[in-house]
Amino acid sequence: MAVQEPLVTKTDKTFRDSLSSVDDKGERVFFHPKKPKGRFYNARKILSYFLLALMFAGPHIRVNGHPFMLFNILEREFILFGVAFWPQDFKLLVLGFITLVVFIVLFTAVYGRLFCGWICPQTIFMEMLFRRIEYAIDGDYQAQKKLVAAPWNGEKIRKRALKFSLFFGISFLIANTFLAYLIGSDELFKMISEPLTNHIGSFIALVLFTGVFFFVFWWFREQACTIVCPYGRLQGVLLDKNSINVAYDWVRGEPRGKHGRNRDENLGDCIDCNQCVVVCPTGIDIRNGTQLECVNCTACIDACDEVMDKVGKPRGLIRYASENGIASKMRQVITPRIVAYSLLLTALLGLFSYLLTTRTTTETSILRARGQLTMVQADGSVKNLYMVKTINKSFDELQITYRLKTPAEGTLQLVGQNFLVPPQGYREGAFFVILTARQSNQKLVPIAIEVLHGDEVLETIKTTFNTSSSN
Ligand code: SF4
Ligand code: SF4
Repeated sequence: MAVQEPLVTKTDKTFRDSLSSVDDKGERVFFHPKKPKGRFYNARKILSYFLLALMFAGPHIRVNGHPFMLFNILEREFILFGVAFWPQDFKLLVLGFITLVVFIVLFTAVYGRLFCGWICPQTIFMEMLFRRIEYAIDGDYQAQKKLVAAPWNGEKIRKRALKFSLFFGISFLIANTFLAYLIGSDELFKMISEPLTNHIGSFIALVLFTGVFFFVFWWFREQACTIVCPYGRLQGVLLDKNSINVAYDWVRGEPRGKHGRNRDENLGDCIDCNQCVVVCPTGIDIRNGTQLECVNCTACIDACDEVMDKVGKPRGLIRYASENGIASKMRQVITPRIVAYSLLLTALLGLFSYLLTTRTTTETSILRARGQLTMVQADGSVKNLYMVKTINKSFDELQITYRLKTPAEGTLQLVGQNFLVPPQGYREGAFFVILTARQSNQKLVPIAIEVLHGDEVLETIKTTFNTSSSN
């Protein structure tokens, strides 16, 4: 089937050489997008408020008295969904990071910037908090433009003061939450209740975070997505013509032409009403094709659907679709590639979840004592001394014991009695392993040692037992 070229390849592409948020003189262009409304916007609102509640509550949720989430980089303390991670879990973190990168690449290749529009905190804060406050105080886009052009009269001063106070208050709240994720909510409350001089570092961080958030949501706005965000900048290499994005159906829409009684019936469905442009928070025209600035916020889908309803045409002139899907007039979104990639994504998530859930509570290393010769006893049995170190990754104190699992007839004698390992701490000790003469018939005998807390086997460590007294 001959595939029709997207509109953008036939028209002027100079818009791709510059950012819509910067004018010819290099100055900031502020957008005043029309207030969005429609089914996608409503769905995004519900998801956004759920995610916001989760995010603000996150650092204060406790599981058995411990934080549910903590990312204390300075003290290398990480808690994810109530599970503490240690620097010893570095392998798991690296694997998790690789899984995440592969996941992002595959996910974006298939589903485009779905994350940006629905989950990204920048979009949620900007569109669902700050922008909504702006609409409530300054009015919709036309009123906002009027207010910008108006002289500094009483009304403008009052509105600006109210808006910026609210912006500042929310930035302060976000900064507190962000800090609570880093240092823990206990530390944050201490900072609030104790003299500031005891927490000068945290206080400076709080002031800096507040300033950065205020600046981003007051002035920088969508430029965080187009200029700063590495994920946004990678879209050029992550997307291809089969990726699903918010896209204009140029096959159906072109040639565009104004709506009216004498409209040429050979025209496409786009009535060139510009509603998809005025609603766009990044100031682009989606009819030019997929662009770096598009954060897939779906506002143009809702705007165009409303227009289509009014002119009696089917919805979906702008919709989630791939370039190839539009070119070949396929409305189908689920393709074999999407199924294959989705299965792979599920497998990756499954693997990571498996590694997380099978992660041990302790991490034990057992080494034969250096310089200690193998001892052959009077009855022919052979004895070796081992040094042991057990790290307790849990929040509870553990009474650790060790047991020789194989060979079954051997014995293990702990040097000293008590092996109490403090929470998130470690203990070092030593034990002897004794094998009978019959079991010692080869130079290196494989042995397995169980690490127990009560009756619960936490780990099984495999090592070797040297039977040669000459070493
Ligand atoms: S809202 Fe729809 S009909 Fe109006 S200009 Fe955009 S694509 Fe065309
Ligand atoms: S083009 Fe549409 S989906 Fe993309 S940012 Fe603009 S309004 Fe949102």
